[in-house]
Amino acid sequence: MHRIVAGIPTLKHHCDTLARDSERYRPTQCPHCGLGHPWLHGHYTRKADRTTSGQENPVPISRFFCRNCGHTCSRLPSCIAPRRWYGWALQQTVLMLLWTGLSLYAISSLPALLDTSPPCRSTCRRWWRWLQGGGAEFEFRLRSAFPDWGRAVGWPDFWVSALRQRSLSAIMTWLDHHAVSVP
Ligand SMILES: [Zn+2]
Repeated sequence: MHRIVAGIPTLKHHCDTLARDSERYRPTQCPHCGLGHPWLHGHYTRKADRTTSGQENPVPISRFFCRNCGHTCSRLPSCIAPRRWYGWALQQTVLMLLWTGLSLYAISSLPALLDTSPPCRSTCRRWWRWLQGGGAEFEFRLRSAFPDWGRAVGWPDFWVSALRQRSLSAIMTWLDHHAVSVP
């Protein structure tokens, strides 16, 4: 199922879109039974802004209800990573710093990253392992679709090259829309 709504780069953009164009979040069909046009079924709130100012926190996330099977589902703007405490932009920054050779300790000791307190070492390590673990499938799908993304193969060269072409948020949104599970 398409869990991520593309082209919503910031939490502010998400709040504006919800207010002006909330239909953008509605799934075309129920992810459980396939019936079309689930009903809007209120919102839940999610803490998503880890910046030191935290102005957009918490943000509402639309929930949809299927009148056929009774399931509810929700969809996230592309700036929020499913089941993660931090957004894609910060994850991308941390991964790039790790690939340049900075240690986990050095990253967790930085005063701030993208106006956010840096995540702890275990969180950074988890992101690294997550991308390394899912990397082969992600890489296969991306290379099939974007053969012009350079000749770099394997971990992490392919990702350094890929993130020059598109942001991690855009890549994960694309994978989500092509039936690849993006936890
Ligand atoms: Zn359903």
